[in-house]
Amino acid sequence: MSVERRAPLPNPPLRAGEGADSIDWAAIRDDFPLLKREVHGKPLVYLDSANTGQKPAVVIDAVDDFFRNHNANVSRAVHALGTEATEAYEAARGKLARFLNVRGDELVLCSGTTFALNLVAYSWALPRLKAGDAIVLTRMEHHANIVPWQLVAERTGATIKVAAITDDGALDLDHLYSLLTPEVKLLGVTHVSNVLGTVNPVREICREARRRGVVTVIDGSQAAPHRPLDVAAIGCDFYAITGHKMAGPTGTGVLWARREHLAEMPPFLGGGEMIKEVRFDGTVYADAPHKFEAGTPNIAGFVGLGAAVDYLTGIGMAAIDAREQALLAHATQALSEVQGLRIFGTAREKAAVISFLVEDAHAHDLATLLDLEGVAIRSGHHCAHPLMQHFGVPATCRASFAFYNTFEEIDAFVAALQKVRKLLL
Ligand code: PLP
Repeated sequence: MSVERRAPLPNPPLRAGEGADSIDWAAIRDDFPLLKREVHGKPLVYLDSANTGQKPAVVIDAVDDFFRNHNANVSRAVHALGTEATEAYEAARGKLARFLNVRGDELVLCSGTTFALNLVAYSWALPRLKAGDAIVLTRMEHHANIVPWQLVAERTGATIKVAAITDDGALDLDHLYSLLTPEVKLLGVTHVSNVLGTVNPVREICREARRRGVVTVIDGSQAAPHRPLDVAAIGCDFYAITGHKMAGPTGTGVLWARREHLAEMPPFLGGGEMIKEVRFDGTVYADAPHKFEAGTPNIAGFVGLGAAVDYLTGIGMAAIDAREQALLAHATQALSEVQGLRIFGTAREKAAVISFLVEDAHAHDLATLLDLEGVAIRSGHHCAHPLMQHFGVPATCRASFAFYNTFEEIDAFVAALQKVRKLLL
């Protein structure tokens, strides 16, 4: 199925307070059944959306409806259910293409960002890179955008160079560009840091990389759920997202790649669905993107992700961005009143993620006591060991916000933090 590229999205992301005012956020919160539950006898305050997002009823219902009424395998059977399942699965591809402003035949549906980045590593980088080549990454990458490149480097003899960050947690762009020397073949950058919240200027970075002939891989896991995206305008070579952070089911994700790359890349996994003809004297592969979708996919998951995309676009990504910026501003202000609290990541362009520590209290102790107050935050290394090493800490706490959170929840979180701080220090 092919979906035509739309004109670039005209609107830049709105800033705090703009555009979101006319939306009934309380009604939107009501769409999320899980947010009504209690934990340890207290109302749940869910501040871990950067880890995984909660699901609106329309997504849960779409998955339920698929299994109750349409379940069949895709692209195989001519019976009615087979056709319905295939149409629903391909409709999700079309919705995702419009969401990202790219063509549907450039989207590989897969299990998430981790799979997507490994696909690029094994299928694009491994056959091309050799000793003497280099890969550039940044200090703020998630392990999913580090380890696949280390595996490629080990096998090819290529080396890895790491771009530094500044004290406020922004990318040191001068350092990054100074690393883009002729032996560099690939640059991997996160669009938004899952620990610092830093929003990287990926459009500018991709322009600079392209001028130097460097292929760019953008990890969009933490961008797609929170801001309007125009992947075509970013000008990268590869862009990866994961469905479960954007209101969709787990086990769903997307790799967007330029068509010329998809055409040249060999399949990553072999099996059914990815072939035109199999003979023992040679197999002819299907065209991209199906060439990269071996085996039965997560059909119900993508039906759910399609519903999630409809839901998010129904609210409007600019409004979601504005709402979350307002929540971030409120939380940053409220946390500044907690004595001894240190925030990691204060870049000017920041998503609604706050990593912090309170004096000498251990991150896990803080998170465990907050959980008893009904507040779910994450503690740990956030799959970003190199960033923890940079800051000289083993772990941080991380509160991450989504449009379904409320200002009252943030106040409850900060009050609970004041309480547990007293218990620990
Ligand atoms: N990249 C970033 C920035 C992330 O935050 C995450 C998930 O936490 C991933 C990659 C990996 O996503 P997944 O585990 O869904 O493949």
